[in-house]
Amino acid sequence: MEGKKIQKRLFGTNGVRGIVGKDLTPELVLSIGESFGSMRKGQIAVGRDTRTSGETLINAVKSGLLAVGCDVTDCGILPTPALQYLVKEQFDGGAMITASHNPPEYNGVKIIESDGTEMGDEETIKLEQRIFDHTYSTNSWEYVGQETIAPHLIKDYITAIANFFPDKPGMGITVVVDPGSGPACSTTPQILTRLGCRVLTINGIMDGTFPGRLPEPSMDGLKGLAALVVSSGAAFGVAHDGDADRAVFIDENGQFVEENQEFALVADHICRQKKGVIVTPVSTSQMVEIVAKKNNSTVTYTPVGSIYVARTMRSLIKNGAHVIFGGEGNGGLIFPDHQFCRDGGMTAAMMVAILASRGQKLSQLLEQLPRRHMIKDKISSVGGAAILNALKSAYSHGIIDETDGVKIFQGNSWALVRASGTEPLIRIIIDAEDEEQGRALQDDLKETIQKVT
Ligand code: MG
Repeated sequence: MEGKKIQKRLFGTNGVRGIVGKDLTPELVLSIGESFGSMRKGQIAVGRDTRTSGETLINAVKSGLLAVGCDVTDCGILPTPALQYLVKEQFDGGAMITASHNPPEYNGVKIIESDGTEMGDEETIKLEQRIFDHTYSTNSWEYVGQETIAPHLIKDYITAIANFFPDKPGMGITVVVDPGSGPACSTTPQILTRLGCRVLTINGIMDGTFPGRLPEPSMDGLKGLAALVVSSGAAFGVAHDGDADRAVFIDENGQFVEENQEFALVADHICRQKKGVIVTPVSTSQMVEIVAKKNNSTVTYTPVGSIYVARTMRSLIKNGAHVIFGGEGNGGLIFPDHQFCRDGGMTAAMMVAILASRGQKLSQLLEQLPRRHMIKDKISSVGGAAILNALKSAYSHGIIDETDGVKIFQGNSWALVRASGTEPLIRIIIDAEDEEQGRALQDDLKETIQKVT
């Protein structure tokens, strides 16, 4: 199991992120390339999402990698999970230029290890230290690396997913895909077509200004997708975030599918086929636990962040556990038979397979899931540690989980309270049996918090 979170200086939960030209400069990305390249050596794959700053930053990371002697393969514009898949299959490491769901002015770097997972905390801290200490030197002319341009490799990723579903479960199913002008424009429609689906797209042309909607697939941004699903009579709509490691859904009636329901629905489908362990952060709704129990499977919890999920899945498997599924309640799903990272294209394909095998409409399948009531709240406060300690002692008579922040269990409900790592904020998630119990727990928590603030 991956242990506790370690605070990093440059990197957040999902790589380095910042506003281009302000906190995220080509100089910084160059030094990340040099530092990473001097740690890992070999053949490194690079790629980017569709952001307007992508070209300058991918050239910076390539320059850094080449200068310290790595050979670089530029895979062009592709989803993060596509690059992760290619790295796992044929490279010694990877660097993805993306800011995922952030607005267009942002960009960032995700570092990928040779097994396709994002770099873990301990290695990232070493990488950061190298940048601060400048403990690498650039090579002389005989030893600089060589670059290969390989935009065609994206096809390997599409084929890998299509091969998972040889029975063509998409025959007779219409799907509307909203890649949000991001890199999945050239993957998810192709994947679903290979599955036999009839595919329509919206925001299907790559554009780093994101003219149709922002990279975060929010309910508001997906109104166009929802309207097209209804007017075309599609079975569902699927939308990705800016680097397509996440997928969220619209049902056949144009209704947004809450991401915890999505997670539970896919978990249920997988558990029906094989028993084992599901891995997810402590913030995911209890729905998945209920679904797992019903199917004689279990859930293992991690700190919040897909990297902790992916690495825990790997270490459980190493210790002999049968891990069948993982991911987060935000549309980031991990299918271990495919790869150990969130994969939006694979998630879209899985939804087609679920509808085909169950023979019911998406809204009908959602109706059959356990009912939970989730409340998300935040409180402005600088006294994060004091509040968490106060909650721990106030609720010490019951069950408390400290995997990430403080998770308090009360009857069949729970509350997760975490201090934000980047803002003076306390985040609260409550997952209750019904609205009444959720509100009661929320009021109770707020009263305790008010006493110490
Ligand atoms: Mg993302």
